[in-house]
Amino acid sequence: MTAPESSPASNAAALAREIERRRTFAIISHPDAGKTTITEKLLLYGGAIQEAGSVTAKEGRSHTKSDWMTIEQQRGISISSSALTFEYQGRHINLLDTPGHQDFSEDTYRTLTAADSALMVLDGARGVQTQTEKLFAVCRNREIPILTFVNKMDRPSLDPFDLLAQVENVLKIVCVPLTWPIGDGPDFKGVYDLQTSQVLAFERTSGGKHRAPMQTSGLDDPRLDALVGADLAAKLREDIELIRGAMPEFDPAAFLSGELTPVFFGSAMNNFGVEHFLANFVELAPPPGPAETTLGERAPEAAFAGFIFKLQANMSRAHRDRTAFMRVMSGHFERGMDVTHTRTGRKLRLSQAHTLFAQDREKVEDAYPGDIVGLVNPGVFQIGDVISVDAKVQLPSFPRFTPETFATLALKDVGKRKAFMKGITQLAEEGVVQVFFPTDGARDPYLGAVGPLQFEVFQARLQEEYGVDVELNITSYGLVRWLAGDPSSVARFARHVEDDQGRPVMLFRSKYDLEYTAEQHPEIEFLPLPKDL
Ligand code: GDP
Repeated sequence: MTAPESSPASNAAALAREIERRRTFAIISHPDAGKTTITEKLLLYGGAIQEAGSVTAKEGRSHTKSDWMTIEQQRGISISSSALTFEYQGRHINLLDTPGHQDFSEDTYRTLTAADSALMVLDGARGVQTQTEKLFAVCRNREIPILTFVNKMDRPSLDPFDLLAQVENVLKIVCVPLTWPIGDGPDFKGVYDLQTSQVLAFERTSGGKHRAPMQTSGLDDPRLDALVGADLAAKLREDIELIRGAMPEFDPAAFLSGELTPVFFGSAMNNFGVEHFLANFVELAPPPGPAETTLGERAPEAAFAGFIFKLQANMSRAHRDRTAFMRVMSGHFERGMDVTHTRTGRKLRLSQAHTLFAQDREKVEDAYPGDIVGLVNPGVFQIGDVISVDAKVQLPSFPRFTPETFATLALKDVGKRKAFMKGITQLAEEGVVQVFFPTDGARDPYLGAVGPLQFEVFQARLQEEYGVDVELNITSYGLVRWLAGDPSSVARFARHVEDDQGRPVMLFRSKYDLEYTAEQHPEIEFLPLPKDL
């Protein structure tokens, strides 16, 4: 006899099934490597959009669906992370969209805490770039598995052996190619699949808009010479022999612990190699695993818990509210369920839950571990907060980036002070900038950020979303330290401010000023920085 649908046994089985088919990942890459293009093609293969580009064509904009704010459109960069969801071969895939611009790294770092694996996209001609390195370091720190896609093989590219050697040397990760390119640039003929020993032939498609057809044949197939040319066929046979002889085999355990990356080659713009990657991805990438909490590891099969990894005010003109992005850590989430906000003990009913597909919102009824749910933030959520059906569970720590650049913010129309304070509180809550208040009675707050572009975004959003005009002046301060002790005696070389929790903070212009102050004021203790990644 089969158990009725609502029995605990069938619910547990359904939950296990949903967990097993979830794949939640993020793409890390240096700007311009092709992340947006790959995202679009993955959605195409996932059937989430009919034709790459069609989403955007509708409104005559040349952006993918994940770019949604005016300022992003003006600048052609995506600032905020959203989650794109699609199904492929029975798997439920959540792709966390991360901004590529370096000034938005804090947001990206946080988004990576919600991913179970990452796809590193490299430009075949450039290999590892600065932003790749930084983002890779975060993934490495979290020990999540990383897959690699070497893109733009239709352009003149680095020698693939050199490229893999570079990845290994710079990133200290073992590379195991699962496909191998045949030629590059105008001579790019396709890739050899090292697992199935087949050649996937490349065909240039018009505009890259349609699914690229694939032809296959083995390495010993005499037609290979005809397909790719005698020279490239000979080189391929040589390369493959070298790989089989000298390179390590793919080791799933080393991959899952982040020590080894499987490498794929292709051309996202031409739709080549993306579906092959996706088919491998769903097999290789892990489903959600246990989450670390203050109560120990929490299995995904445990009762419902989720954590907030991102806050965003004013997601769209149509929805001027604050959204909290929650990743389900464990259990079955149902809309309308009663949960505890574990930091405050407050009870919440989660009736305002929706999926986040850029500007479109759909009510979400159910979600499972690995899924991302947008919750309307009634003002209680902070980044790193947990909501759960059991009261005590919290995250051990949450990454925070240390600001490296500081600006003052002066209100132009003093009559707007209330809107100004609301704006800076809400936008700072998102964590893209930090706000510091002077302790000497001066009114203008300081903003701290990782890069100056964040200030411009902040300024534009204050204007657009809160109707407040401010003047921004970048200061010469470049170092921040939280401290213990009475700093009132320290006047020289430092600016004394408070953070939004009222904790004393000092801003310094240089390392020298910091060291000098520390020497002159042994009574003050400079606290270690919040754990940098
Ligand atoms: P992102 O900044 O990483 O999101 O990169 P984009 O996806 O926006 O791509 C940057 C540029 O590279 C765009 O002009 C793309 O059309 C182009 N591009 C992306 N993939 C390929 C590819 O496979 N081959 C070539 N030749 N160009 C590509």
